[in-house]
Amino acid sequence: MPRIVERAEAIAVVTASREQAGSVTDSCLMCEIIRGDVVPGAVVAETPELFVFLPRFGVRWGHVVIAVRDHVETLTEAGVARWATLCERAYFTQAALSAVLQPLRCYVATLGSGRAQPMTCEHLHTHVVPIHEPGDRPARVLTWEYGVVTAEPAEFEALASRLRAAV
Ligand SMILES: [Zn+2]
Repeated sequence: MPRIVERAEAIAVVTASREQAGSVTDSCLMCEIIRGDVVPGAVVAETPELFVFLPRFGVRWGHVVIAVRDHVETLTEAGVARWATLCERAYFTQAALSAVLQPLRCYVATLGSGRAQPMTCEHLHTHVVPIHEPGDRPARVLTWEYGVVTAEPAEFEALASRLRAAV
């Protein structure tokens, strides 16, 4: 069963897996995941432009991250065509999550900090997060502060497979 772990534990696991992969401090976590140096929960889809995955630590069960494959940091750098491609993928991802997990709704958010931190990075990406609690609000959902969800590799793979089948 997916389980909640505290932020500190999740950061320690991510940091350890990056060290194991030989990451240097200023490298990009998203690029490491896309290259396969750091293993996500499961890969949902890959296209020439996008890399879609279930993060090993998500803010809710079913949290999907859609990253542009190349390291770009801003929407302007990505360009409108690639942004449109990312938005289209976010649309179909929320449709798949809605069909598979039947949440109340899905949050779709493009966030990111100006500098790398253990739980975020500058590399352009969009979160699609299924919401099940009527009282959930973005400030409470889009943070690691209240813990994160993780699961066994087989559980991640099973969900990724159901999401692929639902698109
Ligand atoms: Zn990157």
